Amino acid sequence: MTGSPGGTKMDALAFLADELAQFKAEGVFRLPRVLEGEQGARAVFDGREVVNLSSNNYLGLTTHPKLREAAIRAIEKYGAGSGAVRTIAGTMSLHRELEERLARFKKTEAALVFQSGFTANAGTVSAILGKEDLIVSDQLNHASIIDGARLSKATIKVYPHCDPAGLQKVLEEAQGQGYRRTLVITDGVFSMDGDVAPLPEVVRLAREFGAITMVDDAHASGVMGRNGRGTVDHFDLHGQVDIQVGTLSKAVGVLGGYVAGSRALIEYLLQRGRPILFSTSHPPAVTAACIAAIDLLEQDPSLIDRLWENTRFFKQGLRDLGFDTGPSETPITPVIVGEGALAMRFSDRLFAEGVFAQGIAYPTVPKGKARVRTIVTAGHTKEDLQFALEVFARVGREMGII
Ligand SMILES: *Cc1c(COP(=O)(O)O)cnc(C)c1O
Repeated sequence: MTGSPGGTKMDALAFLADELAQFKAEGVFRLPRVLEGEQGARAVFDGREVVNLSSNNYLGLTTHPKLREAAIRAIEKYGAGSGAVRTIAGTMSLHRELEERLARFKKTEAALVFQSGFTANAGTVSAILGKEDLIVSDQLNHASIIDGARLSKATIKVYPHCDPAGLQKVLEEAQGQGYRRTLVITDGVFSMDGDVAPLPEVVRLAREFGAITMVDDAHASGVMGRNGRGTVDHFDLHGQVDIQVGTLSKAVGVLGGYVAGSRALIEYLLQRGRPILFSTSHPPAVTAACIAAIDLLEQDPSLIDRLWENTRFFKQGLRDLGFDTGPSETPITPVIVGEGALAMRFSDRLFAEGVFAQGIAYPTVPKGKARVRTIVTAGHTKEDLQFALEVFARVGREMGII
């Protein structure tokens, strides 16, 4: 049925308004806060200056002078855009330079940059696996892994979060089921809980069962391992993980994702990775800024030391106040409150008092596990963090959370 002139106008999307009304009734409807100015440790959102505990800008590189300068120089030299997809005319010498730097940084044969970490995961998983294959995935893996797995049409089996015994059970059950190939895939650091995958056990099991291994190090890139090389470096597993994904959008401070691994893997993705074949490559400014960020990580890891100092201080502070911070071991510290609506109200009260920690509810986290998520950065001062702890204490008590 369509609306006819003069007739009753039909709204084919009316169901969306109903859904939205439902979100509002549940207290979980959100529109994003708007950042005015730079993504800093203190920043102005919705017209209010707050201590910013919501960005992934772990090292403060989004505004680093070396990155700004590299981006500006690249625009002057190469222009604003790349003008094509990678496989047609959109591979620039800058892209190749970044990839060579990343391969060296990650100690792999080769690397390939995607438009984002999301497309790197989804594009890689869907390219290398097919309907005859099995994907064994941690229960809390990132949405981009899940989407890639679905696109691949492979059978997907989920193992309990960070549970090697559960993984072993799935792998044993799959034996003799006639799958062509098996991929075992996990986040290195889990984005909502900040815990770290038991990578040595996961890798050992995957190898024992002849499976391909893939680690998504989005939240470990620039955060864990020597100079921020990620969890594979942290656990000294170089050469034992077939596919490493990293992001350039979080600690690296710019935008993009990459896959690091064997030359065959990279050359295959250049033939079959759909985001590489069908979506335009990064503009020069993005790529040049990423190269400048890798320079910084290699030359001066002191920012990473600052990040971890701040992490220890703030996490301990939240725990001492009696908040439930879950199993976090990284700069991501959730403050788990339970119901979605409560998490949103908590976040709003914190914001009104000058602290921005985003409320996160279902479907991003399981029902009953809603939280505000905090991420400290190297750019926070002790005073920023002390202030944030005071606000958490005051609002937490006022709302009966502690
Ligand atoms: C953020 C994130 C991604 C996506 O990275 P982008 O570069 O932002 O697209 C992928 N995996 C995990 C685990 C993430 O946290």
